[in-house]
Amino acid sequence: MAKERVLITGAAGFLGSHLCDRFIAEGFYVIGMDNLITGSLKNIEHLFGRDDFEFYHHDVSKFVHVPGELKYILHFASPASPIDYLKIPIQTLKVGSLGTHNLLGLAKAKKARMLIASTSEVYGDPLVHPQTEDYYGNVNPIGPRGVYDEAKRFQEAMTMAYHTYHGLETRIVRIFNTYGPRMRLNDGRVLPAFIGQALRGEDLTVFGDGSQTRSFCYVDDLIEGIYRLLKSDYAYPVNVGNPDEITIGEFAEEIIKLTGTDQKVVYKPLPKDDPMQRQPDITRAREILGWEPKVSRAEGLKITYDYFRSLSKEELYTKEH
Ligand code: NAD
Ligand code: UDP
Repeated sequence: MAKERVLITGAAGFLGSHLCDRFIAEGFYVIGMDNLITGSLKNIEHLFGRDDFEFYHHDVSKFVHVPGELKYILHFASPASPIDYLKIPIQTLKVGSLGTHNLLGLAKAKKARMLIASTSEVYGDPLVHPQTEDYYGNVNPIGPRGVYDEAKRFQEAMTMAYHTYHGLETRIVRIFNTYGPRMRLNDGRVLPAFIGQALRGEDLTVFGDGSQTRSFCYVDDLIEGIYRLLKSDYAYPVNVGNPDEITIGEFAEEIIKLTGTDQKVVYKPLPKDDPMQRQPDITRAREILGWEPKVSRAEGLKITYDYFRSLSKEELYTKEH
């Protein structure tokens, strides 16, 4: 019997590449699409040559054409780290809006179920803690992070409109800070930043006084939550993340301990609109998907550190993507 076909956008990125692996393991034929603006073919090079995988080098903000049937579309293409989306703000807005519209149109034409990668950033700098899905958020539309946050909010609105107006089957996952192998060492996110600094013998740069919080989820847990959501019949947003919250100052200390570095913490200004606290309320994911994270931060960090340690000196010292 022919395999069911799934389109994954952002396939050469951190999360997209793990999704490709998961869907291949589940017996799907995977079409990965990416324009490589922040991703790397290295993340999916192990899939080239397989007869159940193909790759399209394409910008999804332009018309998307895929021949043949599609069972599912997972839209993960988008710059995701603050320094990436500050560097390419217009592309960020376009991939969340035009790109999402193109893919919804494709899903409608193929009668495919579409899942979009939304984010905890739709809650902005939240005034409700922990964040539940029915919180509308506190976003500055014209601040530096607005290009990402508003693109994602528009993406959710467009996806719900296709669901209610066209009856399209849609799923919305609100992803909280996720980490693991294949993150880009120089993407500016806090975990690769700290581990990269420790490996290069540099001091760890904590922004602000380090009292802001995040809650870090290991990638395998996230992928399991996404897979369950896709298979569920639930069309409203679902938070997927690990509620284990930590301050960034404490996190820096954890990385110093993990890496055994002699370096210390140095303080830099807090970027504008940097959220002061973030923790997912995962009651909905527990009830609807029977999902909760399984990997502790200690275990996940060890695996991720081993991955970063295995990179070449050249990768360790590359500043630009
Ligand atoms: P990433 O940068 O590693 O991957 C994104 C991929 O999308 C890259 O390979 C990039 O080249 C590709 N891309 C960007 N614009 C594109 C376009 N116009 N056309 C085709 N490809 C394009 O980031 P990631 O962490 O893997 O994030 C993937 C998705 O998950 C994003 O939509 C992001 O907003 C969302 N998300 C991630 C996190 C997280 O913690 N990693 C949290 C919340 C939401
Ligand atoms: N951060 C930091 N030092 C760094 C990079 C980031 O202190 O070198 C802080 C950043 O200001 C934020 C937190 O770590 O408060 C998480 O940042 P990241 O970019 O990983 O994710 P996001 O802000 O999108 O949650």
